[in-house]
Amino acid sequence: MLLKGATVATLDPPLVETADLRVDGDRIVERRTSLSAGPGEEALDLAGAVVLPGLVNAHTHLYSALARGMPAPRVPPRNFVEVLERVWWRLDRALDAESVYLSGLVGAIEAALSGTTLLIDHHASPSFIRGSLDELRRGIEEVGLRSALCYEVTDRNGTEGRDLGLEENEAFQSVRSPLTRGMIGGHASFTLSPESLERLRDLGERTGAALHIHAAEDTIDLLDCRARYGVDLVRRLDAHGLLAARPLLAHCVHLTEAEVAEVHVRGCWIAHNPRSNMNNNVGHAPTAALKRAALGTDGMDGDMLAETRAAFLKMRDTGRGEDALPAALELLAGGHRLAAALFGLPFGKLDAGAPADLVVLAYVPPTPLHTGNLGGHLLFGVDRSHVSSVMVGGRWVVRDRRVTGVDSAASFARARAAAQEVWRRMDRL
Ligand SMILES: [Zn+2]
Repeated sequence: MLLKGATVATLDPPLVETADLRVDGDRIVERRTSLSAGPGEEALDLAGAVVLPGLVNAHTHLYSALARGMPAPRVPPRNFVEVLERVWWRLDRALDAESVYLSGLVGAIEAALSGTTLLIDHHASPSFIRGSLDELRRGIEEVGLRSALCYEVTDRNGTEGRDLGLEENEAFQSVRSPLTRGMIGGHASFTLSPESLERLRDLGERTGAALHIHAAEDTIDLLDCRARYGVDLVRRLDAHGLLAARPLLAHCVHLTEAEVAEVHVRGCWIAHNPRSNMNNNVGHAPTAALKRAALGTDGMDGDMLAETRAAFLKMRDTGRGEDALPAALELLAGGHRLAAALFGLPFGKLDAGAPADLVVLAYVPPTPLHTGNLGGHLLFGVDRSHVSSVMVGGRWVVRDRRVTGVDSAASFARARAAAQEVWRRMDRL
């Protein structure tokens, strides 16, 4: 297939130029200013439409797709742990096979329609652990998106729940799909005993899969660590060999800049989730220190353009100067580097050899658009309503704002019914 007359906009480094792209199979095989269609080759004239690399959500919980608009807990939570106990840990206990599948399905549809093509998910469904990642994968792959999935290992469901979580992570490493990879999920230091951390490290060593764990999202994670183990969080993770495994650390709101620098030097990635941090009032992440970092929505939705804008505005609001704009773009581009490390593919490039994961925007700029001001257009102009078509691995998953692989209206109707049931079950928990 030939995509002609695209305004190709890549982020790493920012570059805007007019080009034709040839797609063969799941890859981009050629990029030139002018290419002609070969015999039998389909050519699509993009008439100057902006084409971005497919966006990456570096930390999400797709099961929260069924949480939108759910009734507030009877007793309002007063702090972060109570938010977990009264909202999220009641929701995840109420999930079954059908609701896990549907959360993947509708979560992936909304992500695709936002131009997000790869989801790094952290899953929990304590009443349905074994086989849960396959159900989640089924929903995401029906839409045609890529994902890296893990099951949240924690002590909050007893030893049996923890061991089932470890087994589910291990079993999922055998997944053989060009769209999906397995990671290993850990909840957070404050719900993981020394033995559980050892088990996570062993599993990582045995499988080679990367750990995806929450770290320092709220002060409770640090205070608990100091109170129970007499050390700072980074030291505790390191003492159990978890930093050496180069994990993906979600949040890191309460790490010092020196600790962020240290975990980066050790090869760790950080997922920064500005909208979730604001929503949970957990504090401001040390954004100036973020280097090997990418943006996540933490389950709020699949909209990376909105997350990037929020990251930018929060940086401005907390005193960052002109460097906030390149820093926000750098975080968005970080998703591609993280995904490249997980999949072994050069995401974000839109060049010969890169995966054909791209987003066509129906964005008509009211001012000149060029390499020097791409950030201004992405932060102040482009939003999810401009996403027109989305390709993943050479296949159109969205054409003219409609998902191609599934019946969107029927999927949402099924999800609404399942959400109603989940909320009913939550009420009894
Ligand atoms: Zn999270």
